[in-house]
Amino acid sequence: MINGKSEIIVIGAGLAGCEAAYQAAVRGVKVTLYEMKPKKFSPAHHSENFAELVCSNSLRSNQTNSAIGLLKAELKLLNSLVMEASYQTQVPAGSALAVNREQFSKYITEKIKNHPNITVINEEISDIDKISEGKIVVCASGPLTSEPLAESIRKLTGGAQLHFFDAAAPIIDFSSVDMEKAYYASRYGKGNPEDYLNCPMTKEEYDIFYNALINAECADLKEFDKKSQEDITVFEGCMPVEVMAKRGYDTLRFGPMKPVGLPLPTTGEDAYATVQLRRENKEGTMYNIVGFQTHLTFPEQRRVFRLIPGLENAEFFRYGVMHRNTYLNSPGFLTPIYSVINRPNLFFAGQMTGVEGYIESVSSGFVAGINAARLAMGQEAVVFSKETQIGALSHYVSEGGISSIFQPMNANFGIIAPLNKKVKGGKKNRYEAYAERALSVIMSDYIFLNNYEDSN
Ligand SMILES: Cc1cc2nc3c(=O)[nH]c(=O)nc-3n(C[C@H](O)[C@H](O)[C@H](O)COP(=O)(O)OP(=O)(O)OC[C@H]3O[C@@H](n4cnc5c(N)ncnc54)[C@H](O)[C@@H]3O)c2cc1C
Repeated sequence: MINGKSEIIVIGAGLAGCEAAYQAAVRGVKVTLYEMKPKKFSPAHHSENFAELVCSNSLRSNQTNSAIGLLKAELKLLNSLVMEASYQTQVPAGSALAVNREQFSKYITEKIKNHPNITVINEEISDIDKISEGKIVVCASGPLTSEPLAESIRKLTGGAQLHFFDAAAPIIDFSSVDMEKAYYASRYGKGNPEDYLNCPMTKEEYDIFYNALINAECADLKEFDKKSQEDITVFEGCMPVEVMAKRGYDTLRFGPMKPVGLPLPTTGEDAYATVQLRRENKEGTMYNIVGFQTHLTFPEQRRVFRLIPGLENAEFFRYGVMHRNTYLNSPGFLTPIYSVINRPNLFFAGQMTGVEGYIESVSSGFVAGINAARLAMGQEAVVFSKETQIGALSHYVSEGGISSIFQPMNANFGIIAPLNKKVKGGKKNRYEAYAERALSVIMSDYIFLNNYEDSN
């Protein structure tokens, strides 16, 4: 307990902040929730209600043999407020869970505003140091955190620890790569060959791929994303692969698809062009396509990148994205309960921790919220196991992959602890085995978290 009181502060009434505030409140902790709306709106927020879905109304697959479906099932078992709201306001969407966005936000807003342990203050917070002095704080101000607060977080983290734009290449499930066509090798034989997979192309294959790429459909960019993208392209030389391709037929062959130093194992010659994939984690289950940051739509990424020899059946753990996104360089800065390593009273939650997506943000809000509450009540922290999707995400955020550049991550089976047995029958059975294990771990090790009496 800080100052002998069980109380915490939450900044931001988005998906993560509402989940964090609610989880603390139902456990008997007093919460002050600061939200800058309706006095000030980010460029993507328009509603006065909380937990606003700024884009799609889909919370993605609801099947537990998908990683995001599993994450939802885990959160539902643990009495997540956002999951409760989702099922109360669900609209038909096949195997996905989609919601009526107004009813969804309204449901959560009422639950938060009516909870006797939560006080809402409509105010912008601009100084993270000041507000967290002697207090337990969960900062969940989102990917579009207001500028003064972002600046004060940047100072707190030592400057280089906060990113403002996300330019990520797709990540592929290694087990879906055709190793009859792809081969291990690092350029000029430098370093560990298993760090890179190479997908060589003939001129004919390159022509087909090139034409598909320059004609593929791009995602719509919001005005603020356009501006940020111009800035990052100019200042960081970080150009979408399709934009680079449009500069000229050979640009990619002298850039990310350079074949030199990667002789073909069959002939010892260089290919016409080579796509390289870099290992993303120690286990070697995830590889990212080097230099392929993109803003093609997700279906187009699937169609076009599957034209790369060896990736015809590629499964995408994460699609490439390029958008404005305020997020921390979390590995080495945050713990697996989303608190700052040297400041245990300060937690971050939501997209700004480096998780990517609505439910992923909720998941981090859930973990930060219960742990902030436990800290306020003088109880031990609860760290989720990597065998669960909730824990896999929190560990990914605090540890990162093997690359020196940390990039946001969505729920996927590449970050979950590998199974210690072989599962026959392909990917579907393997994913089902992951889900079965995760849910039984939640039931055996974490269901005690539901032992509270909410007076509301
Ligand atoms: C334009 C856009 C579209 C997206 N589309 C999708 C999508 O379709 N599907 C998906 O899964 N994910 C999407 N995301 C990513 C992410 O899942 C969402 O942004 C998600 O809402 C993040 O949740 P959060 O709680 O971290 O932040 P938010 O939900 O953004 O909540 C942050 C809250 O903090 C408040 N706030 C900000 N600064 C301050 C301050 N200084 N003081 C007080 N309050 C403050 C904001 O007003 C807001 O209410 C999108 C992101 C963006 C930016």
